[in-house]
Amino acid sequence: MSNEKILLVISDPHLGKLLKDGTLRPAGYQVTLAEDRHSVESVPGFSSVDVVILEERSDDDALVEFAGHLLHTYPSLAVLLIVSAGRDDLVLRALRMGVIDCLYPPLKPANVLQAVRDGIGRRERIEIWMRKQTRRNTDILRRRVDVLKELEQIGRSVTASLDLDYVLTAIVDAAVNITGAEEGNLLILDDDSGELYMRAARNFQDEFVRTFRLPVSDTLAGEVIRTGESVLLDEGTLQKIKTSYLVRTLMYVPLKVHGRVIGVLGVDNRESKQAFTRHHLALVSTLADYAAIAIENARLYSNTEIERRKLETILDGVEDGVIVVGFDHRVILVNRTARDAFGIEENDPIASNPIEDIFHHKELLYMFTDGHDAHTYRSELSLDDGRVVNAQLVSIPDVGFAVTMQDITYFKELDRIKSDFVNTVSHDLRSPLTAILGYAELIARVGGVNDQQREFISRIHISVRNITTLINDLLDLGRIEAGFDVHKELVPLPMIVQYSVDSMMNSLDKKRLKLTLDTPEKLPKVLGNPARLRQIVDNLLGNAIRYTPEGGNIVIRLRVERDQVIMQMKDTGLGIPPADQPYIFDKFYRASNVPSDVSGSGLGLAIVKSIVESHLGRIWVDSSLGKGSTFTVVIPVANDNL
Ligand code: ADP
Repeated sequence: MSNEKILLVISDPHLGKLLKDGTLRPAGYQVTLAEDRHSVESVPGFSSVDVVILEERSDDDALVEFAGHLLHTYPSLAVLLIVSAGRDDLVLRALRMGVIDCLYPPLKPANVLQAVRDGIGRRERIEIWMRKQTRRNTDILRRRVDVLKELEQIGRSVTASLDLDYVLTAIVDAAVNITGAEEGNLLILDDDSGELYMRAARNFQDEFVRTFRLPVSDTLAGEVIRTGESVLLDEGTLQKIKTSYLVRTLMYVPLKVHGRVIGVLGVDNRESKQAFTRHHLALVSTLADYAAIAIENARLYSNTEIERRKLETILDGVEDGVIVVGFDHRVILVNRTARDAFGIEENDPIASNPIEDIFHHKELLYMFTDGHDAHTYRSELSLDDGRVVNAQLVSIPDVGFAVTMQDITYFKELDRIKSDFVNTVSHDLRSPLTAILGYAELIARVGGVNDQQREFISRIHISVRNITTLINDLLDLGRIEAGFDVHKELVPLPMIVQYSVDSMMNSLDKKRLKLTLDTPEKLPKVLGNPARLRQIVDNLLGNAIRYTPEGGNIVIRLRVERDQVIMQMKDTGLGIPPADQPYIFDKFYRASNVPSDVSGSGLGLAIVKSIVESHLGRIWVDSSLGKGSTFTVVIPVANDNL
């Protein structure tokens, strides 16, 4: 029995009941009765109603419009009208609008049922047609999605793979699959011979692919190369291509790189007459673009590779050691000298490895990891084979950091010999100087001297004292460098600083310098030689006083940071010219801007540096000319502190 749903919109209760219970229900339909036309769409279950029967009311002009509205919104709905006789104009309009039938009272059950069956039949036909259409559209969409997926896959492999053979073969395969062609190929122009050769192919014999050569002149593919325009051939334009193979339909698309045509991507059919469409052309053009990108990428990569090798060969030839590391602390490049220095074998894989996996030299690693934070751009590294290298860290924008190293073993040895010599001479000079001082003092005692003679004697005193200070400094330096200061104890640095400040109060007052001590309440002790540590503070504070004009400021700051005590001596003095800064810790070096009336030997900072290093610490300077200098000393905290 039929189970369709019918909605009656009838205001006459008698007629409604008659139709519902007398005609439609007995025929097996589910019937709902509604009185108000305007609320039918909100009747429960309206969306599954098959037939709507509307009744004309007196002076009802809106009936046809309402029927039209329902049909417009629900095109497969069957709408029947009950109209009074003589309304032919209304009936005509209704039928034109798509109403199934118009019934005239008195209604005969057979007529009503026939009209309902017609309506239901029409609705079913529409629905079957819609289902078919939907299925077709879905299939088309599914095929398009597959094509897009294939294109996406190719796009991904173009960017992800450097294997040009693989990518180009995949592109030709995709062109064949997408177009349903029998075969496909990718022809590339050989600039030297001016001929096209087959770079990738599908469904061609290997031998044919290998030996294939096609001139550009007078060939279809050549025309595409010359004009940069695609070619679509169908059966109507059947041609024998100058390759000795006959095709029925064909499509050639140019491969363009920076506006220049470098090849052709083609698909063809030898057997089938299936023509290629504009849609195929658009898809294969996309594939041709991918192929062009892949070829260009491969060319750029190979150029980069050549340049990289060239650079590597040049760097390998350089006598200095070079190590380049990325911002991610992975090794980019190590030249031969640097490999030799750190015992890295020629074939050890190093590129892209973390630096700690490749290098085990603590100070070198320190330069890369913390060096740039701590301003240690330069450091002397002792290698396992006894050599000493001077290493500088530079940052390379967009790349990372590079350490370059020069072998300074020879200069170190020279320096040692010079120091030995200076030590010996200094030692030997002490006795005659003591004698000179002694005799100068005796002159006045053994007889009268006039004022001028007294003045001369006093100058001898001053000069001998200056030379003695210099000699003592030199001998001191020799002792520190030789590592004779074995005595070490736990030393509180704030106390040392305080003693030093107290001893220089006079000089500070004389130049009206303001000194600020910035020390935390608790500071861990360091393991050191108190006299030597005092020498550090004396020298740095002495310099700050000497090189800061009257009325300036000096700040001594003590801090603890990561198991290290940090002392900073900051002044508002002359500053040090940048060109002199790398050398001020060398013996006898004085910066070019030292005023002529400020005496000094240039040994103080060399002594300070030696002492700092003998305490396993580091020292550096930040200075800006005319504004002031900050000397920073870092010494490790003693292990058994408190
Ligand atoms: P000097 O006996 O000349 O002071 P140092 O070894 O103590 O020798 O210092 C080396 C050089 O460093 C000085 O001659 C000076 O040019 C520079 N220098 C050191 N400390 C300061 C400072 N606080 N301000 C400016 N220049 C300084």
